[in-house]
Amino acid sequence: LTADLSADAAVRADDRGHVFHSWSAQALIDPLPVAGGAGSTFWDYAGNSYLDFASQLVNLNLGHQHPDLVAAIQRQAGRLATIQPSMANDVRGELARRICEVAPDGFEKVFFTNGGADANENAVRMARQFTGRRKVLAMYRSYHGNTATAIALTGDPRRWANEPADGSVAHFFGPYPYRSPFHAVSPEEETARGLEHLEQTIVLEGASTIAAVIIETIVGTNGVLVPPPGYLAGVRELCDRYGIVYIADEVMVGFGRIGEWFAFQAFDVVPDLITFAKGVNSGYVPLGGVVISDRIAAHFDTVPFPGGLTYSGHPLACAAGVATFEVFERDGILERVRDLGTRVVGPRLREIARRHPSVGDARGIGLFWAIELVRDKHTREPLVPFNASGADAAPMAAVAAACKKAGLWPFTHFNRLHIAPPLVIDEDDLVRGLDIIDNALHAADEHV
Ligand code: PLP
Repeated sequence: LTADLSADAAVRADDRGHVFHSWSAQALIDPLPVAGGAGSTFWDYAGNSYLDFASQLVNLNLGHQHPDLVAAIQRQAGRLATIQPSMANDVRGELARRICEVAPDGFEKVFFTNGGADANENAVRMARQFTGRRKVLAMYRSYHGNTATAIALTGDPRRWANEPADGSVAHFFGPYPYRSPFHAVSPEEETARGLEHLEQTIVLEGASTIAAVIIETIVGTNGVLVPPPGYLAGVRELCDRYGIVYIADEVMVGFGRIGEWFAFQAFDVVPDLITFAKGVNSGYVPLGGVVISDRIAAHFDTVPFPGGLTYSGHPLACAAGVATFEVFERDGILERVRDLGTRVVGPRLREIARRHPSVGDARGIGLFWAIELVRDKHTREPLVPFNASGADAAPMAAVAAACKKAGLWPFTHFNRLHIAPPLVIDEDDLVRGLDIIDNALHAADEHV
């Protein structure tokens, strides 16, 4: 890699001068100018390259510049770059059909959106129309997006500054075996007590007022919280008992992240609405959507759906989605993810957890893992406090800086480091990345 410091300066100048960034105090950030990427790697203008262990924002499932996706977009741009949503379009229809083919039986319709937030926004809208009820239950420790309803559903600090949010959302605690909100000492107890808590929430909020429960199948940014056995099946049962729509937010975990088309397929449960985005086309062109069960779809056979988007089912985005299906099937991506998760990542992270005094827990599935950093394995005191920033967050910032210095771009959140590389990563690069993380953790061990 050669450095191009004048390009670096020019990109920085335009960015710092004019780009207003997400979730940030604008004067306190220093965005990395990125010159290019290929596969699991991207590089800057200063001659540094990074293994992308965050898959950007856990969307880049097929890696940077996948030739099949790029070619599909180029081909589509040459034939029909855009078409409005009330017309029928070949790639839009093909992608919708292919999504339904990998969804459980009884899902035959897809409503396309521009991303994950508006997928959740519209799933909630469908549930409200279908049930005639308004309230929605969502978990603490969740992220569902930044539009009005989606941020109100969110159970993390990003909601706080957006409040007062939609008053028709109530939050509940989901399972978190390592820091059980229910004082459970086994996964079975976590499931039983978590379901009892959810049922009490439903009863006390008023079952007849609740349109939907929305759950990230595996909680993503807020911790890679894998539900204990039986939990999601119990949610399904409660939703059936009380006439509530079960929305599975599969925005981060759908399309192969854990080695399934949809993550709930690993948990033997079927929701009523499935929301997706990110991995559907690796974010090459913005795309999200809602997969709709027949029962809910039938409601809108004669009643108009009161929602729409100019770019719903954009042909460039859908062409990249169709190519994604072709690559997944041809290259056995789901099998590869399951294999790398069980054979390479899981054993290595468990070994790292035994050896490093700062690693309290390592958990995950497929190519979706978190290690939770602590000051004391016994008390489980987090390495940095919940919602830490500035000086409080310094020990985590040191771990992230050590990763970057060694050529790995990490995903960190509060006291956790997540491992979510592209699903196409070479095994050698995967092992090299885990070696880098292993070394970087010495920066956390110092605080034990
Ligand atoms: N839901 C989950 C679980 C997510 O992880 C995200 C984004 O990170 C969203 C929804 C929002 O998606 P988007 O940023 O595409 O609106």
